Amino acid sequence: VIFWEEPHISEAISTQKLNVRVISSGVTVITPELPVGLDINHVNDVLGDLLDDFIATRKDGLIRWYYTPMMLPFSRHLTALCTVYDCMDELANFKFASPALVSLERQLFQVADLVFTGGYSLFEAKRSQHNAIYPFPSSVDRTHFAAALGDIAEPADQAGLPRPRLGFFGVIDERMDLDLLEDIARLRPLWSFVIVGPVVKIDPATLPSLPNIHYLGSKAYGELPAYAAGWNAALMPFAQNDSTRFISPTKTPEYLAAGLPVVSTPVVDVVRLYGQLEAVKVAKGAAAFVEACEGALAMRTAKENTWRSAVDRTLTDLSWDRVSSQMEALIADAINVRRKPKRSHYDYLVVGSGFAGSVMAERLAADLGKRVLIIDRRAHIGGNAYDHLDNAGILVHRYGPHIFHTNSREIVDYLSAFTGWRLYEHRVLAQVGGMQVPVPINRTTLNAIYGMNLATESEAEAFLNTKAEPVDAILTSADVVISKVGRELYETFFRGYTRKQWGLDPSQLDKAVTARVPTRLNDDDRYFTDSFQAMPDKGYTALFEKMLDHPNIEIRLGVEFEEVRTGITFDHLVFTGPIDEYFEHCYGKLPYRSLAFRHETHDREWFQSVAVVNFPSETTSHTRITEYKHLTGQKADKTSISYEFPCADGEPYYPIPRAENQALFKRYEALALVSPNVMFVGRLATYRYYNMDQVIGQALATFRRHKAELRFQNEETAGPGGALEAAE
Ligand code: FAD
Ligand code: UDP
Repeated sequence: VIFWEEPHISEAISTQKLNVRVISSGVTVITPELPVGLDINHVNDVLGDLLDDFIATRKDGLIRWYYTPMMLPFSRHLTALCTVYDCMDELANFKFASPALVSLERQLFQVADLVFTGGYSLFEAKRSQHNAIYPFPSSVDRTHFAAALGDIAEPADQAGLPRPRLGFFGVIDERMDLDLLEDIARLRPLWSFVIVGPVVKIDPATLPSLPNIHYLGSKAYGELPAYAAGWNAALMPFAQNDSTRFISPTKTPEYLAAGLPVVSTPVVDVVRLYGQLEAVKVAKGAAAFVEACEGALAMRTAKENTWRSAVDRTLTDLSWDRVSSQMEALIADAINVRRKPKRSHYDYLVVGSGFAGSVMAERLAADLGKRVLIIDRRAHIGGNAYDHLDNAGILVHRYGPHIFHTNSREIVDYLSAFTGWRLYEHRVLAQVGGMQVPVPINRTTLNAIYGMNLATESEAEAFLNTKAEPVDAILTSADVVISKVGRELYETFFRGYTRKQWGLDPSQLDKAVTARVPTRLNDDDRYFTDSFQAMPDKGYTALFEKMLDHPNIEIRLGVEFEEVRTGITFDHLVFTGPIDEYFEHCYGKLPYRSLAFRHETHDREWFQSVAVVNFPSETTSHTRITEYKHLTGQKADKTSISYEFPCADGEPYYPIPRAENQALFKRYEALALVSPNVMFVGRLATYRYYNMDQVIGQALATFRRHKAELRFQNEETAGPGGALEAAE
């Protein structure tokens, strides 16, 4: 491993040279040294020559690995088996970033075979720029930092500092909120703030200077546990600005592994990965930050360290070895892909491997014998229905709970060729005040909410009639509910949930949205009443694997439509992505609602009594919690759940049913109708709030229509007889 550092300008030399150090782990560190006064326009030429000389004897089997695009200009000519861009931050947002960085990064994205990102936010920001991009948030050497929990000598420069001590280790630069540090140090003059790390890019004179803030300077990695051992809590006082928008601080798991509670400002990736832990307190502003520090200090001294076991669970799966073997496997794959000759012509290109794309691919290959390439920008098949075993071995749905239900025998028969079934009837409870009551609203719900004893359907009906408010014309999602159950139940069960889910008031949404959830007079507490309700017995991904397992189907994952469009030829296209994206948003963006998921595993058998608990109140930001074992029937000591947080930005999950959006969709649909040899299928391509069975039904119908068209075309060109030969 050759690690090429940033050049160092030295007054001591008259001509450029390389400073080469072999360090014990087998890494050679190279620092180019350049003389003062070198023409800035020639720096990259000089560096390129130095690199070529050094590399001359080891040209074979190179893997180029970039931590910054700034290294591209003098190394792009090297032939490599694989080029990796390990993107650790949004470097363009950093202080003193070179103006060339943005353009160089774009070029690096083009030449890289693989891109790794240092966290999830960065992944989300960059994912559209590359088709083989993978997030690798910080891991931790737990054993190294756990030394802080044992007997370890206190460093001399910390030994005399009064307690309690709140510590920070890391680079001190524009990412630190120095005003916040100063404010909290003033608010708590008796606490010691121990700051370990080099001051970089900012003037040390700008650091707050108070008697209780102690800057101990840079320390070696090996010394950090000894400092952490003497702290009562750890700090992450990051500024809220562009330079911290995408950070995923490694120090978070390091502090936790050292047994310290952590207080952080609201850094997106910290909240996302660690926000659920009692040991990680997130606070904004000096007063709240101090309060959070008090909470953290109280935890450290509390005898009952129950929070530690939650921390241990979260850290269990983190290890740098694991990260490196995952990266190694991706590199091996990338090298193989480069070596494999690519087939270039397909009868059909199918974009998207959800139900819409997979059903189309299966029918085209199996029924018509066509050669199909199916691609997906995600690293897996199955679209939103994808499920997988999580780290605890529990089968979970990555994109929220998917329950199969339908009234169509044809669809069940079709799917049954690829899966067996586990009968499952879905039940949902809503958390209302201190109670959990059935949703959809039924007689049990009414009795629980109003403390009554309605015994029959007619009693329930009579009661609801006293509550319902007649509405002249039922147009919106508010009208549907209020006209049936009145304003009070509407507000309790629908208004808050819908506002959270859609970012709109029910009065602004098409009536079809809340009409999905009926009101019942009986005590049937099933969420759906379809004639067939079941889950694929080995899960959805297994179903998709079987469906796509055909010699005529080739699957490519982690691939954008845009990318393959030029590299291959095809006669027909099936597009299942967002229709507005296909037409390059020429009429403007169609609105989609997104979701953020927080997946957790708990060390107990069950978390809640049913698969889904809804949270209709606006006092929480999540809409529901799903416990997957209820859906899948899996037996295990642990259990995995997910929270759903609706949001405006992110992957498009839901078309938003409103008249104005439908009108915009119709303009795109008009373009679709005149796009020869392209079929638009699925939730995103036809902008319909469809369930899985509806998407499957739509795909089967599209296929039938297409087959009939082919038959017709062949009859036209080949005369009777030729048609069957071509289409069957
Ligand atoms: P998707 O599953 O979205 O597949 C489209 C695929 O295309 C994606 O994988 C995407 O990555 C890929 N793609 C898009 N653009 C491109 C591009 N340019 N290049 C490459 N690839 C691209 N339905 C039910 O019946 N029951 C349920 O319980 C249920 N629960 C749901 C819960 C949630 C949280 C959500 C979001 C949906 C739920 N659904 C449910 C609906 C169900 O997910 C959809 O009906 C179904 O997945 C739609 O399939 P699709 O193939 O149209 O789209
Ligand atoms: N809804 C609600 N409260 C609930 C359940 C649903 O207000 O407890 C509303 C909400 O607007 C939701 C819509 O009804 O988006 C449809 O619910 P459904 O469960 O069908 O949505 P899905 O999660 O399947 O998209």
